Amino acid sequence: MAVMSDGVVNPNINKTPRIKKLEKKLRREQKRLSRKYEMKKKRGEKTATYSANIEKQVVKIQRLYQTLTNIRVDYENKIIAAIVKREPSFIVLEDLNVSGMMKNRHLSRTIAAQRFSYLRLKLTTKAKQFGIEVRIVDRFYPSSKKCSHCGRIKHDLKLKDRIYSCECGFELDRDLNAAINLKNALEYEIA
Ligand SMILES: [Zn+2]
Repeated sequence: MAVMSDGVVNPNINKTPRIKKLEKKLRREQKRLSRKYEMKKKRGEKTATYSANIEKQVVKIQRLYQTLTNIRVDYENKIIAAIVKREPSFIVLEDLNVSGMMKNRHLSRTIAAQRFSYLRLKLTTKAKQFGIEVRIVDRFYPSSKKCSHCGRIKHDLKLKDRIYSCECGFELDRDLNAAINLKNALEYEIA
């Protein structure tokens, strides 16, 4: 979810058993709802007419959505609070291609993109309240491909390469290397 230049890693909450279990349950209940609609159709009823049975199922699904959102929001608030509490002089964020991610056909990535824009907005708002500068680095800045030690650019870096290893002998976790590069970026916009 967020890797910081000092090595603090906030893991992806969507991979936790709690979220996975809730999402599985959500998918099951959604299937159950569409079956209910199909049955209604087969009986020759209009799908728009009221049905207590369907209404109950819709509420069940809405509650599951709400639970999932609450868990994610809590987690994001905790991350933001921890960052702000350390009173950094500035925070650097990479301007990810969120709108491109939103168009992705995978729902999980769409959700991730939405959550990321939300996180960024919340973090920026909070940082401003505390007088912390927020820098946005252009998405074309080679944060991942650059060696944070010697500055070389590794053009053949693949997405599966989790460890950044440079010709100079430097090796570091890929995301941490990128975070350090972002911290040191000289070109940025102030959010
Ligand atoms: Zn290097």
